[in-house]
Amino acid sequence: MPAPVFSSIEMIRKLIAFDTTSRDSNLALIDFVRGYLAEYGIESELFHDSDRRKANLYATLGPKDRGGVMLSGHTDVVPVDGQEWSSNPFEVTERSGKLYGRGTSDMKSFVAVALAMVPEFLARGLKTPIHLALSYDEEVGCVGVRSMIDAVAKRPVRPAFCIVGEPSLMKPVIAHKGKISVACHVRGLESHSALTHLGVNAVETAAEVIAYLKSMARKRRDHGPFDRQFSPPYTTIHTGTVHGGTALNIVPKDCEFVFEFRTLPGDPAEPLLDEVQRFAAGLVPEMQAVSPEAGISFEMLTSTAGLSEEPDSEVAELARALSGANSVGKVSFGTEAGLFQEAGIPTIVCGPGSIDQAHRPDEFIAIDQVRQCEAFLRRLIDRVGA
Ligand SMILES: [Zn+2]
Repeated sequence: MPAPVFSSIEMIRKLIAFDTTSRDSNLALIDFVRGYLAEYGIESELFHDSDRRKANLYATLGPKDRGGVMLSGHTDVVPVDGQEWSSNPFEVTERSGKLYGRGTSDMKSFVAVALAMVPEFLARGLKTPIHLALSYDEEVGCVGVRSMIDAVAKRPVRPAFCIVGEPSLMKPVIAHKGKISVACHVRGLESHSALTHLGVNAVETAAEVIAYLKSMARKRRDHGPFDRQFSPPYTTIHTGTVHGGTALNIVPKDCEFVFEFRTLPGDPAEPLLDEVQRFAAGLVPEMQAVSPEAGISFEMLTSTAGLSEEPDSEVAELARALSGANSVGKVSFGTEAGLFQEAGIPTIVCGPGSIDQAHRPDEFIAIDQVRQCEAFLRRLIDRVGA
């Protein structure tokens, strides 16, 4: 039986139909991709998570003894919980030139177009290899991809370039912000709310720390450092969730909140974290005067490297040539690209769809973007073809 051939849109339909919300397994999708590649005689390497519910997939088309170009994308998607969708998010619906479905923009379409073009890549014959690198758990802090990057970066021959197909409207992106996310736990002491002097109010202490973070955010917004190619052009600081307290008439014992720094290249997160921790430490003596067990602790949840390639680097030149764009941009959202660069693989971001549609109800990709992505990859074939 001949190996199956899918159009890009058919392949997008296939991939969207796998519900790969980050909290769930992505193995059904990975099995499908592995089976599909196997029909073309391409072997896939899997990198599982510790309980084998998820996996990264790495596959090489063409010769294995030279660098080549890695096309990389994550297979997971953000949840649809609580979102109002006009159609089933896990079944592609076409309306007026757009394909609707969870992950159409972020970022199964790039992966799907690359997979659909495997027969074209092979038919041409490759003198330079193409590597496909599919990851899991990107949406929860670029967690999954690390095992695959570690393995690939250690090999004697590793990819010369990486293209991460996050939605950029097919415009090459050479830099993005780094991000760290941090949980702060405030431990106070319960008392009757009529006797506030006998308790340590964890919610109020948390509020002071959160307000301090806000003051740090304002300072960066108003005084920089700035890089005008980013929007917004400064490091941002934001608190996302707060949990604390049980009843109005009880001084709350615990409060936990989660915050993040999204940093410009060259504005590292560590000094920012140090600064808020110093502020928090200044609140502790007053708390411990009431309860020696009271305190404030910080736990780093995720840390994602920023991306920063030079506009005249070889990888930026490649991206301009493939996309037909004559400029390169910078974006504020994080991707796995920073981790690839950190591992020594020159990397850019370029993919179909817009980040504006990502993570929203009625996420879509314009079919025109799919066509532009095909054209981009055909130019790549011209470069790497025999
Ligand atoms: Zn994404």
